[in-house]
Amino acid sequence: MIAKTFSRGIHPEDRKERTQDLPIRTGHVPKTIILPLQQHAGRACEALVARGDQVLVGQKIADSDAQIAAPIHSSVSGKVKAIEPRLHCSGIKITSIVIESDGEQSTVDYKKPSVDPSPQEIRALVREAGVVGLGGAAFPTHVKINPPQGTNVDSVIVNGCECEPFLTGDYRLMLEESASIVDGLKLLKTAVGAERGYIGIETNKPDAIEVITGATLGDNDIEVVPLEAKYPQGAEKQLIMAVLNRVVPVRALPSAVGALVQNVETTIAISRAVRAGEPLMTKVLTVSGGGIINTANLRVQIGTPIADVISACGGLRDGVAQIILGGPMMGTALTGLEAPVVKATSGILALTGQEIINRDIQPCIKCGRCVEVCPMGLQPSRLGNLVEFEILDEFEDNDIMDCVECGSCAFICPSRRPLVQYIKLGKYMLAQKGRKRKTASIK
Ligand code: SF4
Ligand code: SF4
Repeated sequence: MIAKTFSRGIHPEDRKERTQDLPIRTGHVPKTIILPLQQHAGRACEALVARGDQVLVGQKIADSDAQIAAPIHSSVSGKVKAIEPRLHCSGIKITSIVIESDGEQSTVDYKKPSVDPSPQEIRALVREAGVVGLGGAAFPTHVKINPPQGTNVDSVIVNGCECEPFLTGDYRLMLEESASIVDGLKLLKTAVGAERGYIGIETNKPDAIEVITGATLGDNDIEVVPLEAKYPQGAEKQLIMAVLNRVVPVRALPSAVGALVQNVETTIAISRAVRAGEPLMTKVLTVSGGGIINTANLRVQIGTPIADVISACGGLRDGVAQIILGGPMMGTALTGLEAPVVKATSGILALTGQEIINRDIQPCIKCGRCVEVCPMGLQPSRLGNLVEFEILDEFEDNDIMDCVECGSCAFICPSRRPLVQYIKLGKYMLAQKGRKRKTASIK
């Protein structure tokens, strides 16, 4: 099997053995769900319900008229208990709709599916279902599948890499829901008018390659592409390079090179939205790490408190050093177990002291290893120094905005430099500087 890939990158231990062979199981319906009004990139939604209202499963309870936003639906039937600020997994409090479940799971009647939908119908159904990029970015999908005028998207790539260590939800979905993935890919091709579809899967998932290849038999315009198991193989620009051998220019979108990328779970959500009119209400999570008693791939209601998910997995062992939402490379540390699962949550990892990287920060020894692995061809050590010493004027010349925050540089750094944190801070400082400039020019 010839595996394609991109240049540079790293080979962290994949640590997927605890959950890769566990079929997805469905968690219990929680007593209470918490739905933050901001679960996507773009403007926050506004509540369409009030305290005391009865709601059904699948009922739209929040929306926005902004172009970049996606509606939110209730994943339980029950009563709106409160609309108030609640802890979000980002660590800040966000206005959220709190719903107490009645245990009935009474559902709204979904809109009748369209047999042969037009591109406009697909976009409308995807928007109405509140689908966003479920690989972590949470960008509203109806916007992403409506490329800018004048661009010709000829290729759609489904990202089946799941290159983050520990995470196995997409892998299980490829084994268990292959028909929906292929259907979602066909709908995506129709939506953007693409001629070719690709499903990129790393070669450390040979059974997924086999199952998906079987599901695409007879579809001559869809190709399964085996990819080298390497991090960050699933990053959009790296995936496009590996599959299509096209370079997305600095600060440009994939549509600039005729490509559209969607992750596995988003592709399934698109199929459900269009074929069944079903809104996005559940998420498949990998719950893993040495601190979890019964590791699992679990389908849970969006809005379920993290504490409930951990309870459904038998609870925590002694000695948990850190709980991370997402994978260990790009995930974020959890600040409170009361925060809920949101649309972009892909995993909950309870890591022990042996599983987390020792962050005893030392000075840079100028070894150049971070430069050797950076998939974007950046100089992470230099970017880190510019931020540390606040040399803002030199940022723009160093493509800091092109950093995909993959964490490869920090992973490889023998001095344990917090390079990604520096770079994120640098981006924030640049944004602040831009805002100040704008304000000054208005005055
Ligand atoms: S500089 Fe950014 S893109 Fe490059 S390795 Fe570091 S985090 Fe990844
Ligand atoms: S890997 Fe770490 S020590 Fe080596 S050059 Fe980069 S920042 Fe410096």
